[in-house]
Amino acid sequence: MLFTTEFLADVFDDCKGAVQDGIEINEVITDSRRQSHKSLFIPLVGESFDGHDFLKGAFDNGAVAILWAKDRELPEFLPAGFPVFYVDDTLEGLQLLAREYRKRINPTVIGITGSNGKTTTKDLVGTVTGSYYRTHRTKGNLNNHIGVPLTILSMPPQTEVLVLEMGMSGFGEIELLSKIAEPDYAVITNIGESHIEYLGSREGIAQAKSEILAGLKSDGRLFIDGDEALLSPLKQREDVIGCGFQPHNQITADHIRMYSDKTTFQFNGQIAYELNMLGEHNVKNALFAIAIANQLGIPEQYIKSSLSDLELTGMRFEFMSGRNHSTIINDAYNASPTSMKASINVVQQLAGYQRKVLVLGDIFELGEQASALHRQVAAAINQEIDVLFTVGSNAREISDAKQNELRLVQHFDSLDDLTTALLPLLEDGTLVLLKASRGMKLETMLKDIAKQ
Ligand code: ATP
Ligand code: MG
Repeated sequence: MLFTTEFLADVFDDCKGAVQDGIEINEVITDSRRQSHKSLFIPLVGESFDGHDFLKGAFDNGAVAILWAKDRELPEFLPAGFPVFYVDDTLEGLQLLAREYRKRINPTVIGITGSNGKTTTKDLVGTVTGSYYRTHRTKGNLNNHIGVPLTILSMPPQTEVLVLEMGMSGFGEIELLSKIAEPDYAVITNIGESHIEYLGSREGIAQAKSEILAGLKSDGRLFIDGDEALLSPLKQREDVIGCGFQPHNQITADHIRMYSDKTTFQFNGQIAYELNMLGEHNVKNALFAIAIANQLGIPEQYIKSSLSDLELTGMRFEFMSGRNHSTIINDAYNASPTSMKASINVVQQLAGYQRKVLVLGDIFELGEQASALHRQVAAAINQEIDVLFTVGSNAREISDAKQNELRLVQHFDSLDDLTTALLPLLEDGTLVLLKASRGMKLETMLKDIAKQ
């Protein structure tokens, strides 16, 4: 049980029905189709739907109380005494309820934002804290103004640590999420180019991420990518801690060594860690997890064994067996220029492969800077790469820039044509990276190129 209707009556005073009867609520839902057992249904209003129209479904599927917009008429089928809590706006009601529930349970809250690496860092932090404390964390990528409140409202009452991913596409969004979640610790993983279309510039992006300070507890701490010049004004603050590779940071990683299945590094020049992920960017993500674990008093042994034995969320730099004993890195979950360059960098540094193939598709949401940013990706590709295949109108810029520089460079108009050209290259010793924005659906190639 999360709470009873009495708690709801404390939060929302405009209510009717048997709210003081201590009716138990196990779950908060916004999707009326979901089968639930004793849920609170919150009907949201979208551009093309109105959740209020689906009350019957929610009721039939197990809702025992509802939030309801004051200006909507209540259908008559509800039984007498059914608890109804009236609000001006159901989305604001959901967010208010999440804020109050967070206060009531009062776990240590960790809020994670940044352009790239939020989900990875959330999973790293959650795994490490979960080895020692009862931890609840964002499932998948539920990181927006609806996902964050729903994540908070799905935390069991015994939760000791809550790890929240916070995403955004414009100004004001992180401020809202931070005020709902009131983090004790916060992280800005990095500043890239994602959503530059809406935020104008990388400075704009840095400013939008910095909104996470809005709800940070007065004795809280913010960990930032200390190597990012755009975040350096934040370092003036006593509660901000820079993490990174440059020696001026308060928390540093060095002696980084990459193997085919793990990366090792030293934390603050002292403690050696082993991470079963690849790439320098993940070392930085791990630094945040270690720094937070230290703040929470988690013994070193727990941190070490969590980092060396991670279970990772799919399609983020996931190694898979390909056809004909080849190796595929499925990183097709999503892409930004920064993350595409980071992934290419890792592939270039990996030893032990005879042929390295990049399969790159469009990166979306870059607005006017799309061409320039795709060309920047091209500039990050070096002679370690043997084959470059691209698909999509923007990604064409990458192969255009690399013509004659690599052994084989080719652009394709369709994923099917690309797959056909790739198949003969798959053999023992071939490594293929798949990377593009979500909408390019590169993972659909796997049915043809992954080991059957
Ligand atoms: P989204 O905005 O889609 O939720 P996210 O911020 O949650 O993205 P992840 O899903 O963790 O990011 O990682 C996406 C990709 O970003 C990874 O596959 C990796 O290539 C890259 N990446 C991860 N961490 C960093 C980092 N610290 N700096 C740069 N790139 C990174
Ligand atoms: Mg994410």
